[in-house]
Amino acid sequence: MKTQYKIGTIASHSSLNILAGARDEGFDTVLYVIKGREEFYQSLDLANELIILDNYQDIFSQYSEDVIIIPHGSFVAYLSLSKLMDSNLKLFGNKDLLIWEHERAKKELLMNEAGLKLPKDFSNQEEIKFPVIVKYDGAEGGKGYFIAKNETELKDRLNTAKPSFIQEFIIGTKVYTTYFNSIIRNRLEIFGTDIRYESDVDTQIQLHDNPAFQIVGNIPMVLRESLLINYFNMGKAFAKVVHEKLEIPMIGPFCLETVIDRNLDIYTFEFSGRIVAGTNIFVPTSPYGYIQFGKNMSMGRRIALEIREAIESDRLNEVII
Ligand code: AMP
Ligand code: AMP
Repeated sequence: MKTQYKIGTIASHSSLNILAGARDEGFDTVLYVIKGREEFYQSLDLANELIILDNYQDIFSQYSEDVIIIPHGSFVAYLSLSKLMDSNLKLFGNKDLLIWEHERAKKELLMNEAGLKLPKDFSNQEEIKFPVIVKYDGAEGGKGYFIAKNETELKDRLNTAKPSFIQEFIIGTKVYTTYFNSIIRNRLEIFGTDIRYESDVDTQIQLHDNPAFQIVGNIPMVLRESLLINYFNMGKAFAKVVHEKLEIPMIGPFCLETVIDRNLDIYTFEFSGRIVAGTNIFVPTSPYGYIQFGKNMSMGRRIALEIREAIESDRLNEVII
């Protein structure tokens, strides 16, 4: 397939996954690289074009119309959301969801309406059941969160100057499940599961009682098959609610972030409405991608395939909203 369109993204987070997948589907690629990192990205010989940026915001002036941009975690973390919304970047996916994802109340509403079980919210309660996790807005990947086991610990550590969110801490196994909602094939695909590895909560030796939640990387996991069915249904319910509430469908990759406790109850504490870095494990393929397509299927490739099929059926406007 020859098309006028190229696939591009900012060099970080899941860009290698995205570009390798675009290449697999026959697209030319563009990588927007922050100055100082170009030698590393050049060494991988992956992008057809490297555009060097002085800072992330420069993507808005360096961008050209023939590039379909795949947003990832760095777009949310480093770019101004309002600039992103106002820009003329051709962003793959439902970009309104990036806004909903940023506001805790809206986020909780979507997860609640989908019938997902959420950890209890104690932010405005007198009676708190411990342990709790305290979260602050704008924390990047869990930075600044803490666990309090009792009232004294909570009082000692709570920074009352910052708006906080006090949530039931669920003891269990963290499971991040990624999905792809295909507009062109009209179906939800379960893609893969992983465990986030965080410093210091996931280290073996706990020498202090205030471990941090700084994301370091991800580890693949495969779920018990019976649990996978639950997750499939959760993903379907969630995509349905997004469509109802935003009046724009869920487009492409998303992730439900959960903890499974000893009773196999699944608590969802977070979601991402875009590609997550946990899918980087599955280059060139996730188990379910391979099972569903009978060939290697990474998340980057799945996105490019959707774009290719959208172009071929003249439906690009349905996946870039
Ligand atoms: P990086 O380019 O990998 O430093 O990541 C860019 C942004 O994405 C940062 O805000 C990170 O906190 C976030 N991020 C990177 N990798 C992950 C991951 N595996 N899970 C969650 N967030 C991540
Ligand atoms: P988040 O920024 O919401 O993705 O959370 C960062 C990390 O905090 C997660 O990866 C989990 O390790 C942990 N976490 C968040 N909420 C909970 C919860 N309610 N119970 C247990 N762990 C949690």
